[in-house]
Amino acid sequence: MKFMNSRAALLKYPGNPLQLGEIQLREPRGPEVLLRVKGAGVCRTDLRIVKGEEARPNIKLPMALGHENAGIIEAVGENVVGLNVGDAVAVYATWGCMRCRYCREGKYSLCKEQEIPGQTTHGGYSQFMLVPSFTWLVKLGGLDPVSAAPLADAGTTSMGAVRKVSNRLGPNSTVVVYGAGGVALYLIQVIKALHSNVKVIAVSRSEERRMAASRRGADLAIHPKDLVESVRALSSEDAQVAFDVVGDEKSTALLSQVLSSDGEIVLVGLEGKSLSLPTFETVVWEHKVLGSNYGTLNDLEDVITLAREGKVSLNVRTYPLEEVNEALSALDRGEVVDTRLVVVP
Ligand SMILES: [Zn+2]
Ligand SMILES: [Zn+2]
Repeated sequence: MKFMNSRAALLKYPGNPLQLGEIQLREPRGPEVLLRVKGAGVCRTDLRIVKGEEARPNIKLPMALGHENAGIIEAVGENVVGLNVGDAVAVYATWGCMRCRYCREGKYSLCKEQEIPGQTTHGGYSQFMLVPSFTWLVKLGGLDPVSAAPLADAGTTSMGAVRKVSNRLGPNSTVVVYGAGGVALYLIQVIKALHSNVKVIAVSRSEERRMAASRRGADLAIHPKDLVESVRALSSEDAQVAFDVVGDEKSTALLSQVLSSDGEIVLVGLEGKSLSLPTFETVVWEHKVLGSNYGTLNDLEDVITLAREGKVSLNVRTYPLEEVNEALSALDRGEVVDTRLVVVP
């Protein structure tokens, strides 16, 4: 068995910056694939993990972070089919056990035994990564792996969230998207790509972010204080669906004020610790709250298709592996607007 070393940015002690080091990977066997990482997206989940605010119970330290990965296939095990050395692929980021009832249905993000690259096992802040099965890889079909990397999480999460409520969206529907960071901007574009007649209202406290939301297709981008009035002015009906990409104590309470009867809040953001909903309105108007975590392999493939057609995109700012902590700091300071940060190892 041959082993190789790969330079990586490692989480050694949560609460401290990542450290450059090396991990050892073995050559792929069976269904495994060795990937040369071309891009690894930096997202708020990474920030929470580095700060020690979010940890999976099965996390193994030291660990190379990075769960939004794309790259070029370097080597394949003897049982890999349909993929070849040199193919550009995105890495689906929830590796299910394949034995539980959720995995059998392709709902890998619900699997309690799931592994997540960069969260429970080595991810893409590394020159190379070992993917346990070729089935977790989706071909990019001409997309640049650097700009495609964020599709492996942020893009797939957006596609997954929209798909879960697609049957609620008709030609006259109004949808609210609370937040205007990377995931929210993907969401706006996915909604418009799949449901072109749906009116989308984006909500953000930041004027710069509201402008980004408008550029990405929102019909209206407003400050939270103007939400109630704006929904009434834009639409004869309240919002059938509201995506909460912030998820703090105030966002759900505000969204419930503009939700139609039988309307649904899709909770995607993880910034808060608990939800706040008015009991009376929730019961009487039968409001629903749906947690939405990631998407399916088909969602990844479909968001890649939309990106190839130019219907989904974000600006990308790249950082070498040595500067990954600077990327995390920029994200933490809230400086990143209309842009996804990508580490190029
Ligand atoms: Zn992410
Ligand atoms: Zn499973």
